Amino acid sequence: MSHRIVIVGGGAGGLELATRLGRKLGRRGHAHITLVDRKLTHVWKPLLHEVAAGSLDFSDNDVNYLAQARWNHFEFQPGVLCGLDRGRREVMLAEALDEGGGAMAPARRIAYDTLVLAVGSRSADFGVPGVREHCSFLDTTEEALSFHRRLLRRYLQAHARADPHEGTDMDGHDALDVVIVGGGATGVELAAELRQASWQLPAYGLASIQPQRVRITVLDRAARLLAALPERVGRDAESTLEALGVRVLCDVAVSEVTDAAVLTKDGKSIPATFVVWAAGIEAPEVLDTLDGLETTSRHQLKVKPTLQTTLDGDVFAMGDCAACPLEDGSERSVPPLAQAAQQQARFLAENLPRRLAGRTLPDFRFRNRGSLVSLAGYTAVGSLMGNLLRDVTLEGRLARVFYSLLYRRHQLVVHGMARTAMAIVLARIHRRTEPRLKLH
Ligand SMILES: Cc1cc2nc3c(=O)[nH]c(=O)nc-3n(C[C@H](O)[C@H](O)[C@H](O)COP(=O)(O)OP(=O)(O)OC[C@H]3O[C@@H](n4cnc5c(N)ncnc54)[C@H](O)[C@@H]3O)c2cc1C
Repeated sequence: MSHRIVIVGGGAGGLELATRLGRKLGRRGHAHITLVDRKLTHVWKPLLHEVAAGSLDFSDNDVNYLAQARWNHFEFQPGVLCGLDRGRREVMLAEALDEGGGAMAPARRIAYDTLVLAVGSRSADFGVPGVREHCSFLDTTEEALSFHRRLLRRYLQAHARADPHEGTDMDGHDALDVVIVGGGATGVELAAELRQASWQLPAYGLASIQPQRVRITVLDRAARLLAALPERVGRDAESTLEALGVRVLCDVAVSEVTDAAVLTKDGKSIPATFVVWAAGIEAPEVLDTLDGLETTSRHQLKVKPTLQTTLDGDVFAMGDCAACPLEDGSERSVPPLAQAAQQQARFLAENLPRRLAGRTLPDFRFRNRGSLVSLAGYTAVGSLMGNLLRDVTLEGRLARVFYSLLYRRHQLVVHGMARTAMAIVLARIHRRTEPRLKLH
């Protein structure tokens, strides 16, 4: 029987790993690769703020796991990770449900020789009251879509109530307050996308909520936006957002979220029709229950620099759900970024076959290529790092080009050159034949 490699989580990292290993080992029968995910399709997570604002139709960008598996020589199994039996080398899966709540696959166990856990992360609520009840999140496609539908509903209702002769709403519901908690890349990018959408929606006849009545606030407890990026990038993002009419509040901590407001620790109440929570991440809690594997306080699996979990060399973890030490000797871990998940996927795709051939694993070294933040169609800001480019800050058109390269790289790994080229052409055609915003 060939070696069984099971990958749980088909996201930015796991899908690239399954695809690469399928082509490398699965095609020749050198190993049996199985990818498990709780969903049937993959959407690259950094696109979700665009799905939420309606500027991207996710169905043009999703990847069907079954088709991907067939084309790339791996097997796909729907399932939800719920436990691990390290003695028997079996991963335990709970029933996987489809969108209608029907069972796609029963609870079961899958045997492995090598297991890679790549289940990502979700927003951390830090125990703030009201967050889970009243906030929207951008952790999954469904959540991003649900936010988009609520937003659109609000415009449609205002439109239906409006006096056609006046073009204004008679109930006074012609304003919208969106508060985004978290001034990292997700919050900043969403604010710009929503501002752009607020200008575009009236052009489709939904003019009852005028752009200037859409009040968007981004708040963060840090002293500035994009605290993880160089100071100049944060300042550029802040001045661009303010020029777009987005209010930026820093040094503000949230004490509670209600159904109509965000309350702050310094006693303010910020009115909110919608609150989006993008204030930090944690790994899924199920990782604390995996047969004694070590985790951090944010539920991430502790791994060695080889990406093997600290207590079991046959169980690997990668991407947002792994706490992998940085090689600089600091206490810090590899940051939870798509570029890190992609680099780890490439590392494992190169080194798991070598391990099968009896060689020792090298250490993973994270190469920070810099980070770029898109401000919708307006601009992008960020910094690049590399062997030739040393921490170069960028903005404008060039920054937008580099920003799009991260997704293009993911598409290239997943689809190959020809299909990526076709996808780009199709997207261009769609841009000319479809509305610029998703209106359903
Ligand atoms: C709105 C937004 C914008 C972002 N922008 C950027 C950016 O510009 N640049 C950047 O570098 N990073 C960005 N990120 C971060 C980036 O998306 C993540 O770092 C990256 O997706 C992590 O990859 P991953 O493979 O670890 O996890 P994910 O891509 O999250 O994939 C996890 C997979 O595991 C599956 N899964 C989860 N739980 C289970 C379970 N119990 N059982 C089975 N399957 C499960 C999920 O369905 C999913 O397919 C952004 C994130 C968000 C939310």
